[in-house]
Parts: sequence; C-alpha cells; structure tokens
Amino acid sequence: MSEFTVHEPLKEQTALRLDRTVRALRANRMDAQWVQTKEEALALVRQMIPEGAVCSCGGSMTLAECGVMDELRSGRYDFLDRAAVPAEQVGEIYRKSFSADWYLMSSNAVTETGELYNVDGNGNRVAALIFGPKNVIVIAGVNKLVPDIPAAVRRVKTLTAPANAIRLKQGTPCTECGVCAGVKGDLAAGCRADKRICCSYVVSGFQRVPDRVKVILVAENLGY
Ligand code: SF4
Repeated sequence: MSEFTVHEPLKEQTALRLDRTVRALRANRMDAQWVQTKEEALALVRQMIPEGAVCSCGGSMTLAECGVMDELRSGRYDFLDRAAVPAEQVGEIYRKSFSADWYLMSSNAVTETGELYNVDGNGNRVAALIFGPKNVIVIAGVNKLVPDIPAAVRRVKTLTAPANAIRLKQGTPCTECGVCAGVKGDLAAGCRADKRICCSYVVSGFQRVPDRVKVILVAENLGY
C-alpha cells in the first residue's frame, strides 16, 4: 500500500475534526478558520495586522515555530517585547499589553465543542485573552484539539504543564515525574511549589464581543 493511501484517511479525519471545531468556535462568536501549514498561518497573521500596530504576545512555542515571533520583531510593528527589557520592566510590558491593538498567543487546548482552555502561572496571558487588547489572535496546532473540557484539563495536567515547567526549569514536582501532582484531582488540584505554573484556569466560551478573538487552527503539530 502506498504512503498516499495510508495517510489520506487520516488527513481527511483531521480535516473533519478541524471543520467541526471551526464551526463550534464560530458559534461561540470567535472568528475561526483553519489552514494546512504554519506558513499559511504566518501569512494570515501578516494579512490581519496592519504595519505600525501595537502588538504584544503571550509566551508560546507555537508562535516561535510559526515564525510569528520573528515577524513581530521585524520592525513592521510597535512590538511590546518583554525579551528586550530588563526583568524589572517586564511587569510594565504586561500592563501595557492590555491596551495593545493586537495580542498573539496559542491555547493550551481547543475543544471540538468550541472552547479555548488556558492555564497560567502569572496570569498575564489569560488576562489579556479575556480583556484589554482590541484583537486577540490564537494560533493552535491540531495536536491541541481535544473533544471537551475534561479532556482539555487532562491534557494540561499530563502534558502541557509538565512540559512547560521542564522547559522553564521551575523545579516543580512535575519536572521530576512528568505529570502533575494533582493529576487525579479536580481542575485546580496541583502542587504547592513556589514556582507552580498552574494558578489561573480560564475557559473561553461564548464571547460577548463578536470576532475579537480570532482563532487560526493549523493541521500540523505545533507546541505542546
Ligand atoms: S500544579 Fe505544580 S505539579 Fe501540577 S503541573 Fe502545575 S506546576 Fe506541575
């Protein structure tokens, strides 16, 4: 059997899941669409954001993988870059981000029932998602798709949060065993470490402001 015939049903099944998720996000008043590649996602970002716009972003491996971080640092935009300021000024960047024209981020999970699920330590990213920036662009790879909120909670506890804690060298219990200390507990169960990265749990469902949140799903694995 050729590679084409082996992979074609999987591609079709992925497309069906992406279609279903886009419909559900639109029903929740998010401006959702999906593309095949991260290059197409980057092209959409370029189309959406006018030159000179004030931009900010949440920490995200997905944005880096798509080339969005390089785009934000290209000089085309007024980018509030927390990596370009001393540590004592990062809080100011976080606060300025609330009045940005555009805020870019990924999502820890996207449900096929049309919700975004995000968990933060500092809370700056989920705060900007909820309120402040005029527009929010969320880019998420197909690996972030889950059937529903319980699956999203499990995804964060068993994969996203431990992987991020390891990447950020937080020394939390999950960096030793690869899974959340509260994996068997409810949504907010976890460790009591000073550097815990799971503190605020946000579900974005039906939106009061239509199309402020713009979701670009990508039929590739991006981030974690
Ligand atoms: S609550 Fe603690 S142990 Fe659980 S994933 Fe978050 S940082 Fe890791």
